[in-house]
Amino acid sequence: MRSPDVASSAIQVAEGSAIRAEEGAAAVDVRGVEHVYGRGAGAVTALGPVSLTVPEGSFLVLVGASGCGKSTLLRLIAGFERPTSGSVRTGGVEPVPGKGAGIVFQEPRLFPWKTVGGNVELALRYVGVPRHERLRRVPELLERVGLHDVADRRIWQISGGQQQRVAIARALAGDNPLLLLDEPFAALDALTRERLQEDLRQVSAETGRTSVFVTHSVDEAVFLGSRVVVLTQRPGRVALDIDVGLPRTGLEPDELRALPEYATLRAEIGHAVRAA
Ligand code: ADP
Ligand code: MG
Repeated sequence: MRSPDVASSAIQVAEGSAIRAEEGAAAVDVRGVEHVYGRGAGAVTALGPVSLTVPEGSFLVLVGASGCGKSTLLRLIAGFERPTSGSVRTGGVEPVPGKGAGIVFQEPRLFPWKTVGGNVELALRYVGVPRHERLRRVPELLERVGLHDVADRRIWQISGGQQQRVAIARALAGDNPLLLLDEPFAALDALTRERLQEDLRQVSAETGRTSVFVTHSVDEAVFLGSRVVVLTQRPGRVALDIDVGLPRTGLEPDELRALPEYATLRAEIGHAVRAA
């Protein structure tokens, strides 16, 4: 017999995307947020105070040195942690872990014995997409991340870059308005990393999904971001908040990187990261 807990979580799964954003609300609204880990003498203030508003459709990149609180901020936005003080809203409501946002971590965290398609299908099932629709959406999502030809391979039969593509497809599967990415390309070789950056930029332009992307690479920040926020050393605060203003579509990656504005932004953001 199913316990009430199991039954109610099954309902939650069936309802999937039932957490609806309030109309006109910012995709992410972080107000006066501080986060402290632990208590008493061992307490570590990891973050803040930080205030940030992310309008719908932006691609925000958070940059900062290791340990400055980037992952903490992302976990607060995902609802995995509650802020010690201040408030976090996504789409106008308090974030619920595993609901309102698709998340990509540094490691892909896939089911290795399942196929590429099977992993994406599971994500769709989790958010309550019925079987006939899953059959249609799995190939669509794999196409979007350039994996349509490896749908039937097992996870252990594909490269690290491809695995991270599966993780991105899975994060897109929930149809959440928000995508949170925590150094998703940090473990990849330089060439693979560049390819994935290029494809993610394209996916973001195509889907218009609001994204918050964490990195410590200045180049990655300028290439991907429509806006870049530099955090100070721990406790992380906003040191620089800059609109990138480079075209989001129509340019080849090399053309984009060759723009004089690209170099200027790189220098400015690089300077802020070092000064922070
Ligand atoms: P970043 O992602 O920028 O490297 P984190 O957000 O992971 O930084 O961590 C910020 C600070 O908080 C670091 O000093 C880290 O050691 C500390 N920290 C992170 N998670 C915990 C935790 N669960 N318990 C105690 N301290 C933590
Ligand atoms: Mg981190």
